[in-house]
Amino acid sequence: MARIVTCERREVARKSDGSRRPIVSGLLSDGTATVRFTWWDPPREGIERGLVLRVVGAEVGEFRGRAEVTFSWRTRVGPASVAELPRVSPEELPFRTVRDLRPAEEGFRVEVRVVRIATKTVSVGEERRVVYEGLVADRTGAIALSAWSDFALKVGEAVRITGGYVRGFRRRPQLVLDERSTVVRIEGEDLPDPTQLLESPPRSIAEVEDEGGGEAVAVEGIVVGLLPPSGIVFRCPTCGRSVRSGICRVHGQVDGQADLRARIVLDDGTGALTVNANRSATEKLWGVTLDEAQARLRSQPDPTLIEEQILEALLGRRLRVRGPGTKDDFGVTISPESIERVDIDLDATAEELLARLGERR
Ligand SMILES: [Zn+2]
Repeated sequence: MARIVTCERREVARKSDGSRRPIVSGLLSDGTATVRFTWWDPPREGIERGLVLRVVGAEVGEFRGRAEVTFSWRTRVGPASVAELPRVSPEELPFRTVRDLRPAEEGFRVEVRVVRIATKTVSVGEERRVVYEGLVADRTGAIALSAWSDFALKVGEAVRITGGYVRGFRRRPQLVLDERSTVVRIEGEDLPDPTQLLESPPRSIAEVEDEGGGEAVAVEGIVVGLLPPSGIVFRCPTCGRSVRSGICRVHGQVDGQADLRARIVLDDGTGALTVNANRSATEKLWGVTLDEAQARLRSQPDPTLIEEQILEALLGRRLRVRGPGTKDDFGVTISPESIERVDIDLDATAEELLARLGERR
């Protein structure tokens, strides 16, 4: 007896004759443990997150040291009700700190402070749904939160959360709450203050890199370059992906909409990372609007000139950047929530330089 936590439908090619065979794979949970599952030749419809299944005759195997179940033609799978799942009282669930939360984990308790919370409307299939997104934290770290039910969360509140689960979202773990989760207000004396987290002093880029990014990263450094694509880019009006030669890779031929961006390389002497500045941040830093940039492009139809002009304006500037940071093979990228320009005291810098040179003489 288990509930589908995540699922994805796709087709795999048969080795024998190359024909396509449908499968659904994802994660199953009974509230105490989570396992990966693969369902061969599933029903055409109705398999979705939240569905509770009664399964007889599944094959249990192991993949990379974790249990995995497979439903084949021998397996009998039928719907069941939530009431049939084992009852787990919140007191029995283990405590986790934010730092320990990993994707696909559930069946835990956490105590956190709400640092940020905002509502967003998203499309789920045909339906429009409200989702509450934010950031929560304890002493060990911060994690993004996404709630599909209204728990009336307010910034500054300390809460104990049970019945949530963790998923990987844009390479960062995210704590997800739904109608089965519970939220209890607590005192939370030992939880950090929201302002402590959001106004923490900048850390070294090497440290941020070691930690693999974070939900509330603050760094300060000098602009040493721009990465492509920077400048004027064209985006699909439906999905926002960048459009190449008028083609969106999902929506085909589209009428691309102009946008402005700068992928800034910031260096603080310990390391470098990328800051993905969106249109408004780029306009503010550069001092040129998208409309003005497009006018320049019309008079000189060479997009690389725009990129060069942005680089010229930003190169050598000291910036303080805050926002969530993710790490991949190319290093850390920050999606900035704020970019402040830090004025360098040129005289002091020059004196410091001279003093250092003096030491070497
Ligand atoms: Zn598109």
